[in-house]
Amino acid sequence: MLDVRNLNKTYSGRNRTVEALRDITFSLDAGELVCLVGPSGCGKTTLLKCMSGLLDPTGGEVRLQGKPITGPPPGMAVVFQEYGRSLFAWMTVFDNVALPLRRKKLGKARLAEVVGHALEVVGLGDAHHAYPWQLSGGMQQRVAIARAVAYEPQVLLMDEPFAAVDAQTRADLEDLVRRLWRELGVTVLFVTHDIDEAVYLGQRTIILSKSPTVIQEDLRIDLPDERDQLHTRSSPHFAELRAHVYEQIQRAKLGGPEHAVPVG
Ligand code: ADP
Repeated sequence: MLDVRNLNKTYSGRNRTVEALRDITFSLDAGELVCLVGPSGCGKTTLLKCMSGLLDPTGGEVRLQGKPITGPPPGMAVVFQEYGRSLFAWMTVFDNVALPLRRKKLGKARLAEVVGHALEVVGLGDAHHAYPWQLSGGMQQRVAIARAVAYEPQVLLMDEPFAAVDAQTRADLEDLVRRLWRELGVTVLFVTHDIDEAVYLGQRTIILSKSPTVIQEDLRIDLPDERDQLHTRSSPHFAELRAHVYEQIQRAKLGGPEHAVPVG
């Protein structure tokens, strides 16, 4: 579904050059849910921007279903951390969700149906006429997720979407992402700096080294498909995976793949 090949990105300014990504190669199969975790400043956002066509890489390429990405591709939606800035304060919840659908030129009735359904599945069926500033942070992030869902993307990229909400809301939103992923069959790449979240959510966790960034490890998360906050997080295997990812991140902070340890 999505191929990242030998991607590198160097920011060149007048006074300073930053090699943010050195050589990143990985793929996502259709329908996978993969987490990407790494120390702060390791280039997670840079990678996501290159993958969504918002930023040109310095070298290498990203392909969506075999086609090179050169600008924002129609089959992809992105949810950012800063929901406050991604929603329009003067538009109702309904209009915020409907906005990207204008490209699809649906009829009025069909539009209402698609938006209504998206708001329903994120638990905001009664908030159509509210404005974003009347909602809590968690509810605003649900609106941003509904907007992505309504668009019916093949690939959903999420950049630390729950970093700014409280722990309880975060747990609810994690379960929402897992439920939507299973119901919609969408391919998800979820970026986080939270180790527990990286283990709880996905089928794989890709661990990045510190900058200049390479992939430190691509770890299969072999937890059962049925997960819940209480039992999954208290299982011995969850603790093992968590400890392993923690160790890898500590090594990642030292830098370079030579610090990686084998799985097992
Ligand atoms: P993360 O999302 O993992 O915190 P970023 O992708 O935001 O990391 O940043 C990776 C590196 O690239 C950092 O050293 C950051 O300072 C640098 N960087 C990010 N954006 C720019 C930019 N527009 N110009 C110059 N350097 C940048």
